[in-house]
Amino acid sequence: MKFSITSKGDHKSESIKAIMCQYLEDFDLEYDEIEPDLAISVGGDGTFLQAFQTYSERLDKTAFIGVHTGHLGFYADWVPEEIEQLVIEIAKNPYQIVEYPLLSMMIHSEDGTSEHYLALNETSIKKVEGSVVLDVTIKGEHFERFRGDGLCISTPSGSTAYNKALGGAIIHPSLPSLQITEMSSINNRVYRTIGSSLMLPKHHVCKFLPVEDNQSFLITIDHITKSVMNIKAIECKVAKEKIRFARYRPFPFWKRVRDSFISEER
Ligand code: NAP
Repeated sequence: MKFSITSKGDHKSESIKAIMCQYLEDFDLEYDEIEPDLAISVGGDGTFLQAFQTYSERLDKTAFIGVHTGHLGFYADWVPEEIEQLVIEIAKNPYQIVEYPLLSMMIHSEDGTSEHYLALNETSIKKVEGSVVLDVTIKGEHFERFRGDGLCISTPSGSTAYNKALGGAIIHPSLPSLQITEMSSINNRVYRTIGSSLMLPKHHVCKFLPVEDNQSFLITIDHITKSVMNIKAIECKVAKEKIRFARYRPFPFWKRVRDSFISEER
């Protein structure tokens, strides 16, 4: 089996990366940063997002696993004290695959070109200056004209990240869906938005169409931020691709939610 390791880059993560590389190579596993069967992230959930974006073109061939070197992670579940056990599991035992839904996002430009992205957490649409003004369509029907700080379109596993900070719901990753959450919408007698987060099933495509010309938007895809101009539409839907996690033991979602946001005590 070929593996790669994405490290957060701090001293602790780098030394765990070095130890894991050495141990795994001692078991005759091959380090391959280009075409790994298993992508290991060492750091936090942010590092896991980096590993995901690095291999997002080969999700059918690469499975993911994470070691967290900081606080409890949503994607990274192994701790540094367990790396010997983890190395033995990787070297000796087949893993179970757990799949989570992803977000597919297309940016359609005025010049007729389109760019496609996959997000593990979310995409968000914001602006540096002024309000974001977008017509929102769902399944081809106009839904509302949004005016405010921006919109966040998250996956179920991303619902505990930016989406949660914006007041969105936490969604179990077994539900193939996406969630649209507002950032400070303007609501008065002139402007009106729904105000609540919307949950869309996998066959519902939503589009966001700029109302004014020559607008520049900041679009985030997980940890990546892009500045884009002359957009015709941004299209979001549940992706046909899924992320595949390598699991050697259970990692229950609601326990992670509780341990992260409520308390680790029983
Ligand atoms: P960052 O601003 O350095 O860190 C964002 C925080 O979100 C980190 O504590 C990270 O955990 C945590 N996180 C990432 N994915 C998560 C998930 N699925 N559930 C719960 N927490 C999660 O940015 P970054 O490390 O590059 O990560 C990018 C992510 O930051 C974006 O995808 C977005 O979701 C999130 N974000 C959150 C807010 C907010 O909460 N107000 C604002 C902007 C962006 P680790 O410490 O383990 O890495």
